[in-house]
Amino acid sequence: MLYRGADAMPTDVESACVDPRQLSFRFADSDDEAVASAAPMSRRAARAKIPGRVVRLPTGGRSLEEIRLEQAVAAYLPPGKGLRLTLTNNHYNIVAVRREPAAYAVRIHQVFAGAEPRLVRALARYVVHNDRRASGVLGDFIERHEHIISRAPRRPRQLKLRPVGRFHDLKDIFDRLNRRYFDGTLQAQITWGPAVLRAQQRSIKMGSFSVEDRIIRVHSALDRAEVPPFFVEWIVFHEMLHGRYEIRRNGSRRCFHPPEFLAREREFADWERASAWEKENVDRLFGR
Ligand SMILES: [Zn+2]
Repeated sequence: MLYRGADAMPTDVESACVDPRQLSFRFADSDDEAVASAAPMSRRAARAKIPGRVVRLPTGGRSLEEIRLEQAVAAYLPPGKGLRLTLTNNHYNIVAVRREPAAYAVRIHQVFAGAEPRLVRALARYVVHNDRRASGVLGDFIERHEHIISRAPRRPRQLKLRPVGRFHDLKDIFDRLNRRYFDGTLQAQITWGPAVLRAQQRSIKMGSFSVEDRIIRVHSALDRAEVPPFFVEWIVFHEMLHGRYEIRRNGSRRCFHPPEFLAREREFADWERASAWEKENVDRLFGR
């Protein structure tokens, strides 16, 4: 594997730990060069062996660039060896090679798509022989394209929102409260939290507001028929207030519920009913 900015790595360990912040760029010591020079490949000889060497994955979903690069590299492989090449967006693990008896499995950053012939040959030498000079060529290329590799957009964190529960629709509640108490101006998303094992929890958070994503999460234990809508509304309302009133620093302590927050909370129409219901039911609700 070629790890960008990493130290020498075993070539057959997919999950090797690596500190991506290391800056050297070396490759595994071995007698690769001897192997490489003992088995010189003429381009024409190699090309002549193309048929039957490419192990094709089902073409579904594969890009033309990926198939082209796979075929280009396959042209330089020894007879009887297949190749599965996948273009990736992996910033840290730029080239990974797994050498299996019948085939090479190569995962390589998409910056190599459309690589010039010189680079393709180096890649093939690296794949087959773990050739050190080839490593140098690839390493230079990676360094020169560092800016492109680093710039590749990170996939945004997958956030699955699940606002519609079995008994309570949080989006519906949110929209209603937003109109009534915030003039419809509060920006946030809302979802039920994941179902969790109650017994293992030492404290229960009925709701939370993520400042970073502006997502309100409501504990899934509240999605039950016996939980009255006004109680769910109260929990949602509280979290919506967190979206309006920022956390304040008070010396080294953070104040999550400043006085104006608590005053606004009192404006909730069912405040008394909701807090009374909580006192009476919350233990039973969370199995305590
Ligand atoms: Zn709070």
